Amino acid sequence: MGSEPRVLMVASEGMPFVKTGGLADVVGALPKALAALGVDVRVMLPKHQQVKEQYQDVLDTVATATVHLGWREKYLGVQRLSHEGVEYYFIDNEDYFSGPVYRGGDLENEQYLFFCKAVCEALSHIDFAPDVLHLNDWHTGMIPMLLKTQYQSEAARTLFTIHNIQFQGKMGFPVMRDMLSIPDYYYTPEYVEADGCANMMKAALVFCDKISTVSPNYAHEIMNAYFGLGMEGILSARAHDVVGILNGIDMDEFDPAFEKGLAAQFSECDLRGKQSCKRALRAQFSLGGSPHAPIIAMVSRLTRQKGFDLVRYAMEELLTTADVRFVLLGSGDKEYEDFFNYIAGKYPGRAGTYIGYDEGLAHQIYAGADFFLMPSQFEPCGLAQMIAQRYGTLPIVRETGGLVDTVAPYNRFTGEGTGFGFATFNAHDMMAAVRLALAVYQDKATMRKLRRNAMGLDNSFEKSAEQYRALFRSMV
Ligand code: ADP
Repeated sequence: MGSEPRVLMVASEGMPFVKTGGLADVVGALPKALAALGVDVRVMLPKHQQVKEQYQDVLDTVATATVHLGWREKYLGVQRLSHEGVEYYFIDNEDYFSGPVYRGGDLENEQYLFFCKAVCEALSHIDFAPDVLHLNDWHTGMIPMLLKTQYQSEAARTLFTIHNIQFQGKMGFPVMRDMLSIPDYYYTPEYVEADGCANMMKAALVFCDKISTVSPNYAHEIMNAYFGLGMEGILSARAHDVVGILNGIDMDEFDPAFEKGLAAQFSECDLRGKQSCKRALRAQFSLGGSPHAPIIAMVSRLTRQKGFDLVRYAMEELLTTADVRFVLLGSGDKEYEDFFNYIAGKYPGRAGTYIGYDEGLAHQIYAGADFFLMPSQFEPCGLAQMIAQRYGTLPIVRETGGLVDTVAPYNRFTGEGTGFGFATFNAHDMMAAVRLALAVYQDKATMRKLRRNAMGLDNSFEKSAEQYRALFRSMV
């Protein structure tokens, strides 16, 4: 145990405190899994409004200090909380963290420029000297550079994990210079400049010691311009420092054998309860017609990344030419929200839409559906397809990013698979995969086998945690 690395994980959000997306799931689950392996891991997050509202009474103040941001003097509070065996530190500053988690635009850049500097300051105020700082996404991107250039600190090694390369923390250089006192000579393509902007992710990729991303396949993809979105050059140059470690899911949180919120429980060995869940889902969305018609579901942020342009293109063809029901839970871009409301209105009994964020309903959909559609344009890892598999709901995915690493597309020659796949980002190819899935649905024995294959997968976080531990050890 004594030889285990001490790790401080830093991120903008994390379960159970604040969640806006999959990053929070990882920041929630990974420390627990690492702690179970004996790694001394702690977590540092901004003290967002939600944290203040729910945990104020149990937070201990460790230190207060002043952070200098150019000419500004900003308050820094460092607070601490133990939760389920993991120590959490919160960076407290009401100017930056009393509003939305992500304020958008330059306000958001300022929020996280402050956060980076505040984390560097906080390191000297906590009674924990990490061997490795595990930094996540662009919100933490300036930390390696600040530590090396302004704190002359190489005490901790830095691992930077890319959860989504689409968001990079881009801004005009004067903003970065003004807030963090970065000298002009760093504003070149060797350092923080990319595509005419100062870029926090670029700064991280240049200055961190190791780089990881959330699936092995995505680790390769981002070295090409289509996926790398401007970061492919630095990533290719540092290819020997880049690894892909697949995310996992919390196998207890998503467990159809025990969940009380489901209409019935079911497992790999006894799938009968899944029929009750399907009946409940049909009732929930007022679906009509044959109770045996297959249900295709989506639970997702409604953004272009998730392939909604393909779905929009093919949806009416699907609903009018196949005996299938469609259910969507999601929120996001208005153009897609409007589209799915329109579809539900035009095809009552065939399609159901719930615009919003609802974890309970998400579980019911995962449990009651037959297929889970995820035609992503790009997908660093993707959790939803793994969650669907856990409930014996077969994912139909575009073969990109982590979807390649987690879904074995049905092979009609061997009869094996854990889902269905298509390669080209094209609505016709997606429809071919959907039609193959619907054809297989008619073959009960094959369906049962594929469901069991999917439910038998070990997508737990323990496997990921072992790989992170090996990486941390290699860095120290
Ligand atoms: P991303 O992080 O890119 O949004 P992931 O597939 O990695 O995609 O993770 C998405 C997570 O958020 C899954 O746990 C999914 O079930 C959940 N989720 C997405 N949209 C909703 C929603 N509207 N209601 C409830 N849960 C949702």
